Amino acid sequence: MSVLIKGGRIITAADDYVADVYVEDETVTLIGESLDVSADKVVDASGKYVLPGMVDPHTHLDMPFGGTVTIDDVESGQTAAAFGGTTCHVDFIIQPPGSTFADAFADWRSKADGKQVIDMGYHMAVTDLKEGGTLEELASLPDEGITSYKLFMAYKGALMVDDETLFRTMEVASQTGALVMVHAENGDVIDVLVRQALEAGKTEPLYHALTRPPEAEGEATNRAIQLARLAGAPLYVVHVTCREAVEPIARARDQGWDVWGETCTQYFFNSLDDIAKPDFEGAKYVYSPPVRDKSNWDVLWNAVRSDALSAISTDHCAFLWDGQKTLGKDDFSKIPNGGPGLENRLHMIHEFGVRAGRISLNRMVELLATNPAKLFGLYPRKGTIAVGSDADIVVFDPEKKLTITAASQHSKTDYNLYEGTEVTGSPELVLLRGNVLVEGDQLVASPGIGQFVPRAKFGEELRAGARVA
Ligand SMILES: [Zn+2]
Repeated sequence: MSVLIKGGRIITAADDYVADVYVEDETVTLIGESLDVSADKVVDASGKYVLPGMVDPHTHLDMPFGGTVTIDDVESGQTAAAFGGTTCHVDFIIQPPGSTFADAFADWRSKADGKQVIDMGYHMAVTDLKEGGTLEELASLPDEGITSYKLFMAYKGALMVDDETLFRTMEVASQTGALVMVHAENGDVIDVLVRQALEAGKTEPLYHALTRPPEAEGEATNRAIQLARLAGAPLYVVHVTCREAVEPIARARDQGWDVWGETCTQYFFNSLDDIAKPDFEGAKYVYSPPVRDKSNWDVLWNAVRSDALSAISTDHCAFLWDGQKTLGKDDFSKIPNGGPGLENRLHMIHEFGVRAGRISLNRMVELLATNPAKLFGLYPRKGTIAVGSDADIVVFDPEKKLTITAASQHSKTDYNLYEGTEVTGSPELVLLRGNVLVEGDQLVASPGIGQFVPRAKFGEELRAGARVA
């Protein structure tokens, strides 16, 4: 099948120009002014933006956590992503303690079987390393296309690893071409603060935030940076929320160290005011690291502008408010941690980043697509519009008005972090490798169209024609 997208404003991380894009089968084969070619499908994109499909480097679909399982499976989560202009994401495999990585990988692939709507890769979350077993197995993951290791420095008694496991993983990464990712919060300190709060009868959702202070995030961020430096491994700090964590990342980057940071959409918009809402509504905003004081919003906008932070993800980890979050009705520490967001990242960052004059269109594409693709071994197949790249393309109507509501979203959860927010600008056509995925408000393609993408090693490029499984 061939598609000709005519007269749109093509926006990549670097360029902004009006041209036609010609797609044959799965890839972009021609870009130019007034292309004289015939195509099976011709799209008039005049007055529209033509963007690369967005890449979300941080999601949790069909994941057991907090005594339950996230409400979005691969199909519903990826459908939500597709409507939001995201055509590729990297999800987390969580190694069950005692399990091999191979078993965990097989388990996660089976969750995606026949359900994939967009393309995806995986990070491996390491929970348990044993010499003569998983320590050696870890080194083989990059050859399987899993080229990033994630470690939790928080969630004591569940996912948290000690500094030995963190450091040994970094040592392996320094040899294998994997990128180390950390959830940077000091889990030991948080555990103490949580117990003290509960003993004092403080059980409301607000105490989730108050027992995970910014200092605990800053300390862990700094520790991870220093350990990565010692091990010689590249480091990516996920979901940075506050000044205390931005500053050590900015300093490391100033030194030219291999350190990058990510924040997530919700940290620009949610705050302590939300988690303090009465009648358990605050539970909707229980995710980790927690919402912060509003003074951090400007810190984060400045950080993504200056490249102290280099990517914006969603950390989509959706639970029902009514039925799952309620597990912690009488004890905030039992509220499943996580929030939805896969569908609205582009809407929100376009509205409050680009339209509000905080970042350029080019920078938006860089933060939401190009940098995630580069850092996680997907570029230039993903994350840009160029000859030879996968034809993952969003035709975006910058004038379309939309009110974000849970009632109209595609995620299975029963709330939206941005309920009632009005935005101008929304995807109207989404292509995945040249196939029409979304047109208007219709999902055109069927689940099963998405593929697993084995990613390139850190710092290496992924070219079209590279193996796809
Ligand atoms: Zn996460």
